Amino acid sequence: MTIKILPEALAAQIAAGEVIERPASVVKELIENAIDAGASEIRVEMRDGGKRLLRVSDNGSGIPSGEVELAFSHHATSKLNSVDDLFRITTLGFRGEALPSIAAVSQLAMLTRSADEPAGVELRLHGGRVTQREAHAAPRGTVITVENLFYNVPARLKFMKSSGSESGHINELVSRYALAYPAIRFSLTSESRLVFQSPGSGSMADVLVAVYGADTARQMVEVSAERSDAGEPGGQGRATAAVYGYLSNPALNRANRAHMVFFVNGRLVQDRSLTFSVVEAYHTLLQVGRFPLCVLKVSVPADEVDVNVHPSKAEVKFRHPGFVFSAVQRAVRATVIGQTPIPALSLPDGADRQGEAPRLSFGQLGLEVQRTAAPLSPPDADDRLHGREWLYPPADREPESGTSRPDVPPDERDAPLPILRVLGQVARTYIIAEGPEGIFLIDQHAAHERILYEKFRRERQALGASAQSLLEPLAVDLTPRQAVRLADRMA
Ligand code: ADP
Ligand code: MG
Repeated sequence: MTIKILPEALAAQIAAGEVIERPASVVKELIENAIDAGASEIRVEMRDGGKRLLRVSDNGSGIPSGEVELAFSHHATSKLNSVDDLFRITTLGFRGEALPSIAAVSQLAMLTRSADEPAGVELRLHGGRVTQREAHAAPRGTVITVENLFYNVPARLKFMKSSGSESGHINELVSRYALAYPAIRFSLTSESRLVFQSPGSGSMADVLVAVYGADTARQMVEVSAERSDAGEPGGQGRATAAVYGYLSNPALNRANRAHMVFFVNGRLVQDRSLTFSVVEAYHTLLQVGRFPLCVLKVSVPADEVDVNVHPSKAEVKFRHPGFVFSAVQRAVRATVIGQTPIPALSLPDGADRQGEAPRLSFGQLGLEVQRTAAPLSPPDADDRLHGREWLYPPADREPESGTSRPDVPPDERDAPLPILRVLGQVARTYIIAEGPEGIFLIDQHAAHERILYEKFRRERQALGASAQSLLEPLAVDLTPRQAVRLADRMA
């Protein structure tokens, strides 16, 4: 085959593919430009999950009329002057690739006015080619409208998901930026309907409520810590890291890592090591396979991180990765441990409540400890835990003396527990039992849930999905992602 240089339009489409993968990538680039332009308000509108229309409006600096066309040239940027700048980047953009990339694969209109000009400019482009330019009245700032994304790249078009799925990605993206930039008022409308809005109050907690709902937000705790290597062995005070954000307390957790959000120097990143650091910090506090929710902003000096390692800037490289990861881990661990409530023990009257830590002998604890192997008294009528059932091993082993055989069908006795002898119950919540290898503390509520879960799972496997609609509708708070997945399943 002969080597030939690609036609310019085709080369532009290929380049666009690296940056613009789906409607949410357009939104990401346009939001980043608005943030770089100093906007305090960013409005995002979409139709058909952004496939038909996306519009991002900001009240930032605007683009001087003489530079409007230039902004759509490749490698045209106002944010970088020399190669040295590349290693101390403080803006989100720096490559000058977003606007030409988006323009190459859509029908785009930009209306912009900078503060010191009386009128704005409206520029229209089709597939990257300017089709119209005119002076236009406009408020200060920039409005970019992107229609029919990938209209000229049929192969890309085929990879687009349902409108619901694409809008879920956009919703998630907008809420993440809103969390990381709480001083900016964000809004998102879909088919002209307002679906998300952040107050712009400057408080991340306020945005958490807007994103996750008050119930979930209430279960998240603030983390704020700084670390410098100045006082550490071999440290020169050069490496510093600040960690700020919110973490779920261990009671609030999810089955995947989708709700672990990280920003490094204001940039949304996907970083396995950061994720791992946080998961590790919850070690022993969460069951295996469960993950916390978090929004963490990690700040390091601009020259301590290389942001130019990924086409859509979703990954970064730290100069001192170990330092940063352990700073994150320590901050998270300290916060979570500090916030995890220790189950309250009721102290007997007379025990010292104010003085130094009370010294209690076992007998002094005002707890209900029944030294008996007899069935436990259920905490209350509502708790239907059958105290004995789950304390027994598989049916092929005879229970030891002092225990009695549970009255349950063999297939329900599949818990991988050894034979346990019940010693007592603490705080009407935990069951203390003795087994061949030591003492077992069993959270009876969790055990009950587990029994029900196993039961439903078996029924489901045996009968196929069986579902019954609720008598009364039940309102549940869903994240954008969850809402989309639910809608997809119900469709
Ligand atoms: P980059 O952000 O990497 O510089 P872009 O292609 O995203 O590249 O944008 C090119 C230039 O256009 C930016 O450097 C900036 O000067 C200008 N620009 C783009 N969007 C905006 C905006 N919303 N407000 C003000 N200026 C903008
Ligand atoms: Mg940009």
